[in-house]
Amino acid sequence: VESQFIAWLREHVPPHPRLRLGIGDDAAVFRLPPQEECVVTVDALMDGIDFRLGAAASCRFPPVTPQFVGRKALAVNLSDLAAMAARPLLGVVALILPKKDGLKIAQGLYEGMLPLAEKYDLAIAGGDTNSWEGPLAVSITLLGQVAGRGPLRRSGAKPGDKIVATGHFGGSLLGKHLQFEPRLQEALYLNEHFRLHAGIDVSDGLSLDLSRLAEESGCGAVLDLTAVPIAEEAERLAEQSPGGRTPLDHALSDGEDYELLLAVPPEEAEKLLAEQPLETPLSSIGEFITEPGLWQREGAAPRRPLEPRGWLHDFS
Ligand SMILES: [Mg+2]
Repeated sequence: VESQFIAWLREHVPPHPRLRLGIGDDAAVFRLPPQEECVVTVDALMDGIDFRLGAAASCRFPPVTPQFVGRKALAVNLSDLAAMAARPLLGVVALILPKKDGLKIAQGLYEGMLPLAEKYDLAIAGGDTNSWEGPLAVSITLLGQVAGRGPLRRSGAKPGDKIVATGHFGGSLLGKHLQFEPRLQEALYLNEHFRLHAGIDVSDGLSLDLSRLAEESGCGAVLDLTAVPIAEEAERLAEQSPGGRTPLDHALSDGEDYELLLAVPPEEAEKLLAEQPLETPLSSIGEFITEPGLWQREGAAPRRPLEPRGWLHDFS
């Protein structure tokens, strides 16, 4: 079955000018752009944790197919490159397949991945495929190239910087977590045209990832609760369980929004928000401060601590 899969891959994964040697040898060989810094990132997704193969994600959503999983596995990696403002170069894909329907699942995963790879000019250089009696796991490693201004990091936010967010937050479980568009073009454009101090992509929850960015930067962050752009899906989730969590609560802690949080100097943020240069709306949702920790502000009331909440991987 493995040789059958490799034959399938050779037929379906297009060659890329960046690759001198792609799928089929013991390792791939590629041309690195001269004198450029390279960014590398890896992510692993597991059935039962990051997705449920075959499960209906919601009543309005089709079952989770291998195609959706493949797309998501690549998209979360691309989102990490976006967070660094790095251009995708090349990816390698490790698949741990269940014995049952392994080949069909593997092909489906690639069918989900390849259109996204093509869209973002990513060369798929190869990978590894194994099977076992356990559930599906997918791990993708990407290499990226940073542009002239260098990588966007978590550690550059300064007190006084505005917190600028792309898009809307909350309710991703209703479908966005499988279908989101990584904010790559947005990140590359913004990093090229504006002075950004720091950035992170929101994978685990707006409040949690914002607190991580602030901590890495050695400062604090105040979130203006009235300014948080709430997704329509968050409203719908809240409606579905009356008396449960509010739409804002969903927006602050659901995670898997894969939007960007940026630290932008105030005068630059003003320009950025007035210009709104992207299709995706940009909002200012607070600012960084000297005092460490995560804080919330609502109207004129004094700021109060905000507990960072979101998705935490649990291990000991
Ligand atoms: Mg990330």
